[in-house]
Amino acid sequence: SQKHSLSVNQVLKETFELLEPMLQDRQVELNTELSPYPLMIQGDADQLKQVILNILQNAVDAMQGVGTISVSTRMAFTMVQIIIKDNGPGIREELQEKIFDPFFTTKTDGTGLGLAISRNIIQDHGGTITLVSAPSKGATFIIELPLDIAP
Ligand code: ADP
Ligand code: MG
Repeated sequence: SQKHSLSVNQVLKETFELLEPMLQDRQVELNTELSPYPLMIQGDADQLKQVILNILQNAVDAMQGVGTISVSTRMAFTMVQIIIKDNGPGIREELQEKIFDPFFTTKTDGTGLGLAISRNIIQDHGGTITLVSAPSKGATFIIELPLDIAP
């Protein structure tokens, strides 16, 4: 994929704009707490937006249209962290490793491809995507991407 120097915060802001109309319809509150630093990485903006959109769409689906999603960014040593948290039902322990498998879905109209593709995209950026979910405490996805550090 084509990678360029980009700001993770800027990519997130553009993704939130795409999602805004849907969130209003569905009574979903989006709380954002973005780092004061731009958080520069080498990345493909369209692919990263696809990842964020899928995670946010999954959160909206899980909460059945009513709830709160929090998105925050921060620097952690040489990595950028994007933390996306919802207050839906969370993911049962025995399903937690399966959700990244291609075609795994619990939705009647799901493809099960969103998280599999997302993990590929993030790995292609030299990063990781992991789930943290305690039953009945919602789901939290953490994406880590290497900061673009000038030589
Ligand atoms: P799809 O959205 O087509 O089902 P995904 O790969 O995006 O495919 O997600 C796979 C499965 O992971 C979903 O069907 C759902 O069971 C589970 N999942 C993903 N995100 C969440 C979430 N925020 N809360 C609860 N379950 C989730
Ligand atoms: Mg999905």
